[in-house]
Amino acid sequence: MGPLTGRCGRQPVRLLSPPMDGCMACDLTSGLAALPGGTIARELGWVVEHCVGPLGVGTLVVKPERHVVHLADLTVEEAAAMGRILHHAAKVVTELCDPDQVYVALWSHAERRPAHIHYVVQPVDQEAMAKHDAHGPKLQVAMFDTGDTPDPSAVEEFTARARDVWTRTTIP
Ligand SMILES: [Zn+2]
Repeated sequence: MGPLTGRCGRQPVRLLSPPMDGCMACDLTSGLAALPGGTIARELGWVVEHCVGPLGVGTLVVKPERHVVHLADLTVEEAAAMGRILHHAAKVVTELCDPDQVYVALWSHAERRPAHIHYVVQPVDQEAMAKHDAHGPKLQVAMFDTGDTPDPSAVEEFTARARDVWTRTTIP
């Protein structure tokens, strides 16, 4: 294989990346957009929040603090921390929700354009699968089709508990 050029070539990572105008992920992190419950954790270059989309109470979002729209543009340090943060997020929702499974997905397109990357860390139980008669990606599609965003007060309550669990456990 030759060097990374052409379509696969990437510009050097910009280490200084201010919040991006018109980016919902940046707006939620900076406080420009309403975020029920507030930030759960901010460490190792990553931010953890409750998901504002219709994926149920307990679903977290894990995203780089910088405005990054391609996984390949993470710094080595951000990439190294990613697994630890995702693992910890999965442990937190597992402790709080005792789910059947925890889905971790990244579908960061907005209007078919690359968007600020964000993983959803979604606890899934039998009740959700039965309600939507689906599992896996089809469950997420079904939940988005319903458009039922979670009750803000339930999100605030969950977020407070998640923050407690996050801070009393340590990331190795
Ligand atoms: Zn952004």
